[in-house]
Amino acid sequence: MKRFDYLIVGAGFAGSVLAERLASQDNKKVLLIDKRNHIAGNAYDYFDKNGILIHKYGPHIFHTNSGEVFEHLSKFTEWRPYQHKVLAQVDGQLVPMPINLDTINKLYGLNLTALQVTDFLASMAEPREKILTSEDVVISKVGRELYEKFFRGYTRKQWGCDPSELDASVTARVPTRTNRDDRYFTDTYQAMPLYGYTRMFENMLGHPNIKVMLNTSFSEITDYVFYNELIFTGPIDEYFNYCFGKLPYRSLEFRFESHDTPVYQPAPVINYPNDNPYTRVTEFKYLTGQEHRKTVIVYEYPRSEGDPYYPVPKPENGLLYKKYQALASATKGVYFAGRLGTYKYYNMDQVVAQALTLYRKISQNYNGAVEVLSKKLHISPTPALMGNVLSSD
Ligand code: FAD
Ligand code: UDP
Repeated sequence: MKRFDYLIVGAGFAGSVLAERLASQDNKKVLLIDKRNHIAGNAYDYFDKNGILIHKYGPHIFHTNSGEVFEHLSKFTEWRPYQHKVLAQVDGQLVPMPINLDTINKLYGLNLTALQVTDFLASMAEPREKILTSEDVVISKVGRELYEKFFRGYTRKQWGCDPSELDASVTARVPTRTNRDDRYFTDTYQAMPLYGYTRMFENMLGHPNIKVMLNTSFSEITDYVFYNELIFTGPIDEYFNYCFGKLPYRSLEFRFESHDTPVYQPAPVINYPNDNPYTRVTEFKYLTGQEHRKTVIVYEYPRSEGDPYYPVPKPENGLLYKKYQALASATKGVYFAGRLGTYKYYNMDQVVAQALTLYRKISQNYNGAVEVLSKKLHISPTPALMGNVLSSD
């Protein structure tokens, strides 16, 4: 049987970016597997029965401050500029989220200026000596009242625990503004792949050195394929048979609804930080720019069981992950990457950046080894040689 240079588990951003780099830059033979029946991981999108482009695993909006990440992905897709907007339903009104000047004015029936709202928020805020938790982050900026209106209920639903139990980094993802900027993100690059994520992944994985096997889990083939090194982007605790115990993940159930109208709701996403069992409702056509006489929305219901979508950023989970990380470092020939492989609440661009960094590390090891070998053989390390020397090891 053929020997691969790399077996990569998981065809999401982490696995696919690494597969493409190793195949196209280092002439490596890569077997990329995924237990699902499609590529693109959680970013997978497809056209539903009515021809509307939808995201199977919830809304994915691309945004980054990294020129390198944006340029890298631009090799595989054109883009549609898109600035994401969110409204939150609070006290029977729809108001901009993140909280900004208009949010405060609408909610309290005021007409404050940017300067006045700064004072208003300062008068509500409860200064905290140390910002350790997701509760501290919000209360220290906007006070308990706004925290309870916008964050407490949403976070308890989403994570199944109180914000005071979560690392500060979770709610720190959402800023507070005193101006009228109502964009959800302010990153330098904000755009959606023009033909969808799945098409972008198809372009990424089209290299002849990459073989893709779907409907294939790592455990079912590990004894039957030959490879030099492994890159694992599934859950790190699963790889080590949960030897230190299970790392907690949060899941979601998605409920899609088609409507016979071109537009269903007044914003791309509406957040429900209240008693509804769902956290948010997304209308895909805003994101994709598609024109169609029908529309599709998706409700997100947080779950404790199901596909592992979110690592849960809590101090005790960080400590448990560190044990797995130490084991991973001691496991030769196996690399871990991605949101599940490194147990990090990463956005897509962060996963791409992480994968490019890991690629450079792997490639340097490899190029270093080629140099040592070619010195031994008194030959120069030409690209052709580099493609052959190690794979014939
Ligand atoms: P994944 O996409 O999860 O890919 C891992 C793959 O590995 C999966 O396809 C899985 O099937 C496969 N796998 C796992 N174990 C095995 C195994 N044992 N054998 C074979 N295959 C295996 N990020 C943004 O930047 N913007 C957003 O708007 C955004 N919205 C999101 C909304 C939701 C609801 C969720 C859940 C995430 C969102 N993200 C968003 C985050 C984004 O999905 C991730 O950053 C990114 O997809 C992670 O890529 P990955 O390759 O690490 O993991
Ligand atoms: N959050 C909240 N209310 C909101 C929006 C966000 O409490 O209206 C909190 C919640 O804990 C959420 C976190 O901020 O999980 C991060 O929000 P983000 O929109 O980045 O979540 P994601 O898109 O990753 O699910």
